[in-house]
Amino acid sequence: MIQIIMPLNFLGTVYREIRQSLVDMGEMFDLLEQPAEVVDKPGAPNLNCVRGEVVLDDIHFGYEPERPILKGVSITVPAGRSLAIVGPTGSGKSTIGRLLFRFYDVDAGALRIDGQDVRDVTQHSLHCAIGVVPQDTVLFNDSIYYNIAYGDPQATREQVEAAARAAEIHDFVLGLPKGYETQVGERGLKLSGGEKQRVGIARTILKNPRILLLDEATSALDTRTEQDIQASLAAMGRGRTVLMIAHRLSTVVDADQIVVLDSGEVVERGSHAELLAQGGRYASMWDTQRSSRDADAVA
Ligand code: ADP
Repeated sequence: MIQIIMPLNFLGTVYREIRQSLVDMGEMFDLLEQPAEVVDKPGAPNLNCVRGEVVLDDIHFGYEPERPILKGVSITVPAGRSLAIVGPTGSGKSTIGRLLFRFYDVDAGALRIDGQDVRDVTQHSLHCAIGVVPQDTVLFNDSIYYNIAYGDPQATREQVEAAARAAEIHDFVLGLPKGYETQVGERGLKLSGGEKQRVGIARTILKNPRILLLDEATSALDTRTEQDIQASLAAMGRGRTVLMIAHRLSTVVDADQIVVLDSGEVVERGSHAELLAQGGRYASMWDTQRSSRDADAVA
């Protein structure tokens, strides 16, 4: 009997591990669309990320040598502050997120976290320090508890519930007949876009990374849901360095700093109020989006 149970247990573990890594990959492909192409330097140390300052120092990068995408981008996100990157489609915003994860190496310049070049540390430690809230949170066919606890498998029940509270999903979960044991996903309860997003936020809060990368975090949601989860996003960002890659300007208004990227170059930077006062690119993007929002509201 034991001979049969052992392999089954083993297979169960392997299955769970494969499933977890597949979902990880799935989440990353949403953001990155590309497999990793870089490898750790031999004997590379782990990233020592205590404050979470992110510095892009005169970065040049192209997917193909003949077509530069980022042309000397310098951006500093001080530890614990938020910075939003906006700009037209194709300007290179998501590419910056991919470089932060070191899915590619820069052609010139450097990307540093707390003074350490991302090329000099292990990718595993780099990925541990950065939390991503994907556009569309992937749920496992498992309990809500498991789906949140996945952010930190060592977490206690209290920590899981505290993360759910911060993401404003705890009361909703308690209202379900089976509470945290409710099965979700394809074969369980179907959660709305906003609820899924909150589970993703709770998972990330539990993971507790110093740095957060929000790549179009709310774009999969309608405007109403987007407004509803703003408080949860704010709770998640508190005390962390936040790099936001956004199309909708309504989500970046509160960022400490906004950078406008165009064709791989920074063309403007400042707070929302400063950029509006400048009356430049950001101000005209703001006007355009506001008129389309007003039109939506009328429709
Ligand atoms: P944004 O996020 O601002 O819309 P991206 O950073 O996704 O822009 O893309 C910037 C440019 O890089 C685009 O012209 C895009 O076509 C190109 N690009 C993105 N990914 C790849 C890739 N894997 N290979 C080649 N070109 C790419």
